Amino acid sequence: MRILLAEDDAMIADGIMRALKKSGHAVDHVDNGLDADTALLGQCYDLLILDLGLPRLPGIEVLRRLRARKNSLPVLILTAQDGVEDRVRGLDAGADDYLTKPFALPELEARVRALTRRGTAHSKILEFGCLTFDRSERVARCHGHVLDLSARELALLEILLLRVGRLVSKDQLVDHLCGWGEEVTNNAIEVYIHRLRKKLEPEGIRIATVRGLGYCLDTPQES
Ligand code: CA
Repeated sequence: MRILLAEDDAMIADGIMRALKKSGHAVDHVDNGLDADTALLGQCYDLLILDLGLPRLPGIEVLRRLRARKNSLPVLILTAQDGVEDRVRGLDAGADDYLTKPFALPELEARVRALTRRGTAHSKILEFGCLTFDRSERVARCHGHVLDLSARELALLEILLLRVGRLVSKDQLVDHLCGWGEEVTNNAIEVYIHRLRKKLEPEGIRIATVRGLGYCLDTPQES
């Protein structure tokens, strides 16, 4: 999933980003409300994690603008411990859920799973032949057994599954794999593809390379 995190506390933001990236999500981070608003206008996300106390434009205003544009993106707000009124205003303004600071990262991850499960933009379970991919649990299974894939391999598989029957270019893979400010080279993509291929081929699933153009999932082989 592609997640936008709007949080001005660098330590909190860092912890959240690490946890979410470990689960294979691509996270873009902004530290003020105006940049959040701009990012939401220009990019497509699966979830917004929004601190209400943001500089330049309050989080509540970011949320109001988002909903005024009829954008139904799931929004998880982060509020201060004594911010009962903030929480009420946030929920009234169209937030889907909230977390009170300080919170434990596993709880944040659980809320993220719940919200993305509820999300309507994309289907939760992707399927291809014997393969199923649960986008919110971040688990891929083949014939019912769980495949041992790293976070990056899961992210790669996810985009290939989202575009079954179409070519996925290396640029699209790079986009999907990293948030802003992260570098993933074309060579690194080749390495990830190579590893993923080795894990999928025993299951009868092939990642075909179309030289110079990109990759696509191939129909499962007979046998
Ligand atoms: Ca803040």
